[in-house]
Amino acid sequence: MTVRRTPVTILIRNARVLGGEPTDLLLRDGVIAEIGAGLTAEGAEVVDGAGLVALPGLVDLHTHLREPGREDAETVYTGSRAAALGGYTAVCAMANTSPVADTAGVVEQVYRLGQEAGLVDVQPIGAVTVGLAGERLAELGAMADSAARVRVFSDDGFCVADPRLMRRALEYVKAFDGVIAQHAEEPRLAQGAQMHEGDVSARLGLTGWPAVAEESIIARDVLLAGHVGARLHVCHVSTAGSVEIIRMAKARGVRVTAEVTPHHLLLTHEKAESYDPVYKVNPPLRTDADVEALREGLRDGTIDIVATDHAPHAAEDKECEWAYARPGMLGLETALPIVLDVLGEQSLGTPAEPAMWAVIAERMSYAPARIAGLDGHGNALTAGAPANLTLVDPTVRWSVDPTGLASLSHNTPYAGMTVPGRIVATFLRGVPTVLDGKVQK
Ligand SMILES: [Zn+2]
Repeated sequence: MTVRRTPVTILIRNARVLGGEPTDLLLRDGVIAEIGAGLTAEGAEVVDGAGLVALPGLVDLHTHLREPGREDAETVYTGSRAAALGGYTAVCAMANTSPVADTAGVVEQVYRLGQEAGLVDVQPIGAVTVGLAGERLAELGAMADSAARVRVFSDDGFCVADPRLMRRALEYVKAFDGVIAQHAEEPRLAQGAQMHEGDVSARLGLTGWPAVAEESIIARDVLLAGHVGARLHVCHVSTAGSVEIIRMAKARGVRVTAEVTPHHLLLTHEKAESYDPVYKVNPPLRTDADVEALREGLRDGTIDIVATDHAPHAAEDKECEWAYARPGMLGLETALPIVLDVLGEQSLGTPAEPAMWAVIAERMSYAPARIAGLDGHGNALTAGAPANLTLVDPTVRWSVDPTGLASLSHNTPYAGMTVPGRIVATFLRGVPTVLDGKVQK
């Protein structure tokens, strides 16, 4: 099956927009042409939305697609399929590929591959420094001016540790309202680290990754961003102290935004006791108190968005001894279920339900699109808006089967877990990329 490129008119019947009253949505010529009860349209393909919640297409600010370089772990095409199945209509592809996305040529290549796959908009993120080496700035302006129109820059996987270089990067991107997305990890403090530094690491005899290695970089960077007046985005916030620093910085007017991953909202460092490398991730899983602070930060808006940090790894890089395993886990196909679980599945069917969906729309669509400057995404579902949306059945619970996921890799930490919420359909500019839970390409 291939995605229909020709314009198709679709009439979604009786879907609940953000958990509200059932209504119809007419998708035509790439936009939501009409929205309201009892719509008709001759020749339209009808999609039964009864019992389904309509959300704006999700936007992931932090995806590793592994192409070019590690096509055995994931490709732009397979990652795009996983994204569409997860309810996403746009993903931002991290720069730590091989070659690194540090030139106009590489970001344009990734952008083109995304367009060819045609399932989600793939927006490349450019590297901050040449080769992610942290020594000199990459061609930020050339990447911004390229066909890929890069606005987000990150050395993710590595921290831009040199404060002078970080300052220059912030100054440079300020001119075109770009943003530096920092992987906050003070390299000396986290050297040789295998997991969160705490009682579990002490018991297991594994070198710890202390919370202060993250917090000290975030503290420095919010001060730098405030000094320069530029936008800073903090990747995968993992500690209570980081939430506190970001809250203070926002109160002082610093232009800082932050993300949390689904796994940091749910899992803790006790998982390492199994020595199962599927739980090895960077930054590491932290403590119950950190999880609580991250959830509170997400609720009160200190943390702006949920980003997956989808990090596929081939079996030989993951199914080995803990010390040698690569850090990272899959995220695209399970993000919404985990967030639904965390934010209160029990509110389904109660008066609190629409408020929960509004928070999900803000944290997983509107805000990430704003941060990344993706105008065609993250729009409220109203007449005239681009028809980027997803339909989810919140009542279905399903068991995560690693081999059943669309990703080329299988490193999900949720294997065998029963999670709430199933993506039934996704539409990219009115074209169905997922129907009946099946990807259309
Ligand atoms: Zn990272």
